[in-house]
Amino acid sequence: MTLEQVENQGFDASELRAGRIIIGCSECQALCINGTPIHEEGCSNDMHECDTIGCDNLVSAKVKICEDCANIEFESDFWLFARN
Ligand SMILES: [Zn+2]
Ligand SMILES: [Zn+2]
Repeated sequence: MTLEQVENQGFDASELRAGRIIIGCSECQALCINGTPIHEEGCSNDMHECDTIGCDNLVSAKVKICEDCANIEFESDFWLFARN
């Protein structure tokens, strides 16, 4: 894993130190178990799968659906009219 990858998973206080990534999160006491960084339960930086059925993009705990799905939803909000 790279520092960028762990930061993308919400570990925003991580740092590179002596060739190792030290996992850190500004919102919880992040743990690292078997090389997998995990947030404490309920951490607002934690990632979960997009709520849209069939979409498994990871999104932060602050939002329900990913940007892709949010855009689709926005576009479908328009009313359709015939030209004449
Ligand atoms: Zn956290
Ligand atoms: Zn999605």
